[in-house]
Amino acid sequence: MHDFKMKNNRLFCEQVSLDAIARKVGSPVFVYSKKTILDHFNKLKKAFKDIDPLICYSMKANSNLSICKILKDAGAGIDIVSGGELYRAQAIKVQADKIVYASVGKTPEEIEAAIKAGILFFNVESVAELKLINAIARSLGEKQKVAIRVNPDVAAKTHKYITTAKKQNKFGIDVKTTKEIFFKLRKSLNNLEICCIHLHIGSQIEHVTPFIQALKKGVKLIELLNKNGANITHINIGGGLGIIYDKEKPQTASDYAKAIIPILADKNLKLILEPGRFIVGNAGVLLTKIIYVKDTSVKRFYIVDAAMNDLIRPSFYEAFHGVIPVIAKKKIKLKKADIVGPICESGDFLAKQRLLPASLSQDDILAVMSAGAYGFSMSSNYNSRRRAAEVLVDGKTFEIIRKRETYGELIKNEITGKL
Ligand code: PLP
Repeated sequence: MHDFKMKNNRLFCEQVSLDAIARKVGSPVFVYSKKTILDHFNKLKKAFKDIDPLICYSMKANSNLSICKILKDAGAGIDIVSGGELYRAQAIKVQADKIVYASVGKTPEEIEAAIKAGILFFNVESVAELKLINAIARSLGEKQKVAIRVNPDVAAKTHKYITTAKKQNKFGIDVKTTKEIFFKLRKSLNNLEICCIHLHIGSQIEHVTPFIQALKKGVKLIELLNKNGANITHINIGGGLGIIYDKEKPQTASDYAKAIIPILADKNLKLILEPGRFIVGNAGVLLTKIIYVKDTSVKRFYIVDAAMNDLIRPSFYEAFHGVIPVIAKKKIKLKKADIVGPICESGDFLAKQRLLPASLSQDDILAVMSAGAYGFSMSSNYNSRRRAAEVLVDGKTFEIIRKRETYGELIKNEITGKL
């Protein structure tokens, strides 16, 4: 599942001890395993090998250039959601015809840049956006391929902040409007080729049923549209595969493929996938050092040097991340504790009520597990904290793939005028 394992009482990433990385690079630091990233990508590729889909890694999960490049070199395309992500994809020379672009709020500048770059598809999320892409394509003398992101109105049974396919969500276009686009509006959109239906129903989805429901709705819609003169050649089923953070038992890549492939049999549609968390989630940890042990009359706190600005998932989604000391303690008496950061918010915690060795003390390093997805990429400078460093392990070696921010970088874009 992943390459973070205890050996001789030390936690290793592949063949490098995490304690050694923390001592050398400092903390907080995200550490990623190259082998795990590739293993997860290849699991998906293998599971779907019979239909050879385009797997576009969803860069929002972890947009570090080195991580994206590993996946690009392994054959992945990229799923982007902003001009900044397009810029990143271009920086590592991702083939433009392997880039797909979703987002409910693409600006005219972002649309123009993406058309000029030659991306494969915009995943269009509103009629207004469709018209704007058409107008910009016309002004550039281009014909742009687009997908309609359909909101299939299915419940993904995941956290309310990461469900995207209910009527109440801001994402996608409902089925009725999609039909109107094809039957009425399409004639006036001469600079668009509407040839894909896109579905993304949410994230951290553990069971295959909602994927099946959404895909069946998507395929039925495509059949109806194609019977009536449309030419839909692709279906994009987004990302959303859940991973194990705690006790989850999510579908495997193979379970997922076994459910999806038969629905597409004989449909003559090229499949696109946009996995993010599945590939990188369990391929990274966040290392943090205990600054203080604080015992109050009701509980123990380990106050650590990572905080909600580094990993917001516990505060934002009440998400669970395992916490493991990188050096195991010999005498194991356990005590419950909250692991909290230095930020001035009661919501600043990484874990609550965890049984950890009672002998943990100042300077001990903890690994916050499964922090590879939506960790660094959702981090911020709140409380003027510098963003963490990132390290990539490859076998016996490791390298810094993003330096820790400096205080100078923290203020460099601020204009103090005559102050
Ligand atoms: N595709 C789209 C359109 C998304 O919005 C997201 C995440 O929110 C993803 C793909 C990736 O999802 P996940 O990381 O759950 O695979």
